[in-house]
Amino acid sequence: MRIMISADMEGATGVTWTDDVVPGTGPFERFRKLFTGDVNACVAGLADGGATGILVNEAHSAQRNLLLEELDTRARMLTGKHKPLAMMQGIDSGVDGVVFLGYHAGAGCDGVLAHTYLENSITGVWLDGTPASEGRLNAALAAEYGVPVLVVTGDDETCADAADYAPRAEQVVVKESVSRYAAICTPPAVAYQEITAAATRAMDGAGSLSPVVSAHHIDIEFDASHLAQAAAVVPTVELTGVRTVGFDAPTMTAAMKAFKVVTAIASGAIEGKYG
Ligand SMILES: [Zn+2]
Repeated sequence: MRIMISADMEGATGVTWTDDVVPGTGPFERFRKLFTGDVNACVAGLADGGATGILVNEAHSAQRNLLLEELDTRARMLTGKHKPLAMMQGIDSGVDGVVFLGYHAGAGCDGVLAHTYLENSITGVWLDGTPASEGRLNAALAAEYGVPVLVVTGDDETCADAADYAPRAEQVVVKESVSRYAAICTPPAVAYQEITAAATRAMDGAGSLSPVVSAHHIDIEFDASHLAQAAAVVPTVELTGVRTVGFDAPTMTAAMKAFKVVTAIASGAIEGKYG
C-alpha cells in the first residue's frame, strides 16, 4: 500500500498566525518543527497500518517547509515548487490513499488562517456550485484517480468541512478555532498520538476506488474588480460579475490546472495597499 501525504501548514499543530507560516521569521522556524512532527506522527501511523511506501508532498507556500533531516525514514519527501498538480503532485502515481495534513478552512469561512490558495484577495471558490476549500477541490481531484482521502488534520472548522466532502476520512482536530488568528491548541505530544492513531485506523480504507472522471465548473470571487478582469484573460475563463469569474473544464485535473493559472495571474495583479 502506497500512501501520499499532502502537507499544508496553516492547519498544523500550534499554528495560529501569519508569521508561523512565513519563511524567514522566528515563529516559522519554531512551527516548521511542529509541522514536521505532525507529518512524522502520520507516517508512523500509516506504517503501523500497513503502508509500505509513503510520499510526503509539500503543499504550503514555497513548498520548502518541512525538515528533511528530521523526517521519519519510512517516508520520502517531494519538496520545492512548480509542480503541475501543486498540492496534489503524486496523486496520479498509483497511490492507494491520500492524507490532507495541516489543512485549513476555505476563503470567506471561519477558521484559523482560512483562505483558498491566495492568502487574501479570493473571497470565495465554488466547485459545481458548492463552496469549496482546498480540501474539497483536492478531494475531487483524488476521486478522479480513484484515491480515497484517508485522514484530514487541521482545526475544527477544517474537519467539519472534511466531514462533508470526505465523510469516510478520519479527522484529527489539532486546534479549536477562536478567530482567524487564535485557537485553543492541543499540545504536540497529544496531537501526535491522535494523528498516529487516526492514520493507523484509516489504513483500513486504503485501496483503489473506481476513478470518477467528469466535467466540472469552478467559480471564483475576488475582493476587487481588476483581479477578476485579470483572471478573465485566461482562455475558457469568463467574467460572471464585477468581481467574479467562472470556467468549465472537461476533467478535475484540467480544472485544477486552470485554477492554478487563474490564481497566478490574479496574484500578479495585486497592488500594494489597495489589493
Ligand atoms: Zn493551503
